Amino acid sequence: MSRYDDMSEQARFYLNNNDEIELAEMVASSDARIGQLKNELAALHEGEEEPPAWRHPAASTPAQWLWHWNRATPAERLERAALIIDAGQRAGICFQMAHESTIQRLRAEVGGARRLRDLHSCDHAVCSACLLPWPCPTIEMLDGRETPDA
Ligand SMILES: [Zn+2]
Repeated sequence: MSRYDDMSEQARFYLNNNDEIELAEMVASSDARIGQLKNELAALHEGEEEPPAWRHPAASTPAQWLWHWNRATPAERLERAALIIDAGQRAGICFQMAHESTIQRLRAEVGGARRLRDLHSCDHAVCSACLLPWPCPTIEMLDGRETPDA
């Protein structure tokens, strides 16, 4: 079998329809294009880091996350992009609504209510703080049944 027989149909077409100079120019042009594509591919992979095999993608560093991203299918990238966009929108709403400071304030209020409930604990059917029959008006108020002033 000759080298010609091993050639692809496309290579035979180029060989049969071009002279040596034209072929040399085609090879040089292809080499330049391959070099350009290799540079573009390297740029796409720049900054990524292969994660350890045991690590879940969600626990990745940004460089490892990029490694996963560059190996995901288009459908997986679209799904992840949708999740990122959704998370960003929800984070924006949380920021606008001041959810962090609201949570801190509510935690402080819950802590105060717990301390008040502990203070008014039951000791033999009598409140330890106000010495009224259990449940005392403070516990009734904390449980939402009535206020101490009612
Ligand atoms: Zn009490």
